[in-house]
Amino acid sequence: MKAEIIAVGTELLLGQIVNTNAQAISQKLAELGIDVYFQTVVGDNATRLQQAIEIGRGRADLLLFTGGLGPTQDDLTKDVLAEDLGRSLILHEPSMAAIEELFSSRGIAMVESNRKQALMIEGSVPLQNATGLAVGNALEADGMLYMLLPGPPKEMKPMLEGPGQAWLRSMLGEEKPLYSRLLKFAGIGESTLEAKLIDLIQNQQDPTLAPYAKEGEVAIRVSTKAATADEANVKIDEAVAAIQDRVGEHLYAQEDIPIEEQIVKLLRASGRRLASAESCSGGLFAELVTNVPGSSGEYAGGVVTYTNRMKNKLLGIPMSQLEGAGAPGAISEETAASMAENVRLLADADFGVSLTGVAGPAESEGKPVGLVYFAIAEKGKATIVHTTHLSGGRSMIRVRAVKAAMYRLWQALKE
Ligand code: ATP
Repeated sequence: MKAEIIAVGTELLLGQIVNTNAQAISQKLAELGIDVYFQTVVGDNATRLQQAIEIGRGRADLLLFTGGLGPTQDDLTKDVLAEDLGRSLILHEPSMAAIEELFSSRGIAMVESNRKQALMIEGSVPLQNATGLAVGNALEADGMLYMLLPGPPKEMKPMLEGPGQAWLRSMLGEEKPLYSRLLKFAGIGESTLEAKLIDLIQNQQDPTLAPYAKEGEVAIRVSTKAATADEANVKIDEAVAAIQDRVGEHLYAQEDIPIEEQIVKLLRASGRRLASAESCSGGLFAELVTNVPGSSGEYAGGVVTYTNRMKNKLLGIPMSQLEGAGAPGAISEETAASMAENVRLLADADFGVSLTGVAGPAESEGKPVGLVYFAIAEKGKATIVHTTHLSGGRSMIRVRAVKAAMYRLWQALKE
């Protein structure tokens, strides 16, 4: 099946918003095995939308629209497609009831235009909107498939993930459902990971392997169609074993969790606690760890010691180590080690993690942008300091530094 995504909205053409829906829809369709050949963007204009439909019909079997299902004058998608197909718009009673209910519960009078959001193209399947008002539509007409999804991503995604996906699967005539597992990696870049697995990725048939990258972490989705979950697991386990042979030391989870969550789990399982001392990362390490619900049992706390004075006063690092001729300086292996060790003692924790370096944009202490030292101090063991040279802008360097430190901490926890 060949699909075309038609994103409708003048805001997209003016560059006021980014077409993130096209990306999300493309990813979902790839997962379902549907090829996306074109992504189109068209403004809120009936004539040009009609032209886009006409062109799309000539080169795809499925036209998937996003946007233009709202109550206002410029929300045209349903009207234009209905007219194009020679079908009328009918009221979807359950959606109408839900809209009325919402307005009455808020004590606001419903305006007539809200009825528009409960309309559907005659003969279509309604797609329930769990997070908004406009009902989605899916229909087959003259051998073509059409799906209409709302514009707001928080409405579009659940609709596509839930009723949209179920409808697409039924149209694909699949007897076997798709099972997938997400593998999460740290301490390795997307291109290195791909290079190490290139033959597996290129020769993939079943299961399929799809790499993704975000926020200093990379992931691979392993998917297969199978009659049962057990059957799928056997095939997925085999593929995972082949991946593990090559890059097992970077695979930290077989589910969609960030590395900080895996760290908290390992700390919890072994009854150990963590503390952190940060300089260049400005508290990002602490933020990510405390984003994990219930991490207070495993994370004692942290300090952000940005100036030498704070490193001295809070962490007890001698000024003679931090500044002056011949001193190692704040950005050094020695200071990274002292920060990790001293914060561990201060918090009476089992692990102390530190980060000190140059996030940029200017160099510091004569050291280049992207140079970051981080240390892992573990009770009863020698402190290990790592040196990294990271690329990217200021915020990317911080994220990458924190994720690199987390990767080493995860390794220490696994031992
Ligand atoms: P509404 O009921 O809010 O009017 P709608 O289905 O009519 O929803 P639009 O009016 O086209 O959708 O867009 C509403 C909002 O959804 C936009 O302002 C924008 O924030 C977001 N949005 C729309 N299309 C996209 C897209 N392709 N990618 C990302 N966000 C989008």
